Amino acid sequence: MKELSDIVKSWTPAQWDALVRQYLPAEVLTDRFWRGRSGPCPLCGGHDRFTYDNKRGRGDWVCRKCNDGSPKAGDGLELVRCYTRMTYWQLQSELNGERAVPVTPRPVQPNQGRRRGGDDPAAKMRRIIKRWNAAAELVPGDHAMRYLAARVPGLRAPRPTALRLASQDYWHDGQLVGRYPTIVAQFTLPDGRMATLHRTSLDPVSPAKAMIVSADGESLPAKRNEVSALPIAGGAVRLMPPRAGEVGIAEGLENAYAAYMLFGLRLGIV
Ligand SMILES: [Zn+2]
Repeated sequence: MKELSDIVKSWTPAQWDALVRQYLPAEVLTDRFWRGRSGPCPLCGGHDRFTYDNKRGRGDWVCRKCNDGSPKAGDGLELVRCYTRMTYWQLQSELNGERAVPVTPRPVQPNQGRRRGGDDPAAKMRRIIKRWNAAAELVPGDHAMRYLAARVPGLRAPRPTALRLASQDYWHDGQLVGRYPTIVAQFTLPDGRMATLHRTSLDPVSPAKAMIVSADGESLPAKRNEVSALPIAGGAVRLMPPRAGEVGIAEGLENAYAAYMLFGLRLGIV
């Protein structure tokens, strides 16, 4: 039996289209779908979150809400496997023409599914907690510490527990732009609850902010906020504990650390 990767190796874009046509239901395969326009997602529903663009000629698609409200993208094999719930092995058997395997398509529920989850505060909270837990604590010499040291010469400060480092995909308009080392900053409310995360994408090599450019040449911000699970009024990224009840407020990590070095203030950033 041929491996899936061998089977599809020499496929033309039209063959990928044919695969998708074979397995996805007719109601999804509209003219809009084939023209690469936004429409409902075969996996999670909605109105206009899904695009089949076949842009690498591998049955490529993207859904802007598929992954607990986050974008998900893949090739035609992944689309078919997720939709039919076939295993890799089952799909491989089918495409080898060995035997037909009964498939259980997911019910598509327009306007339901993940979108609801993506908008509700509990789901947002789960999402930011998951992102925070997936990031690593800072250690001397890591990419985040090198970045801060490069921005604030001579920096000596307590290791910030409100900052972590992760490798994160950068999405823009439903397109994956790249993957960057990312400083994840925990934005907490006065009562200590985490409300959201700030993210700073870094250059993968040098200790600088990432230069991020979209496929259409648009320059994109290296600093972004995650969705807010709670109203953020009164909150801050607490870089250091207060000293004698006093905490300084700065805008941006770099300014906060520069002020700490100049004035010895303990700082949070907003
Ligand atoms: Zn979806």
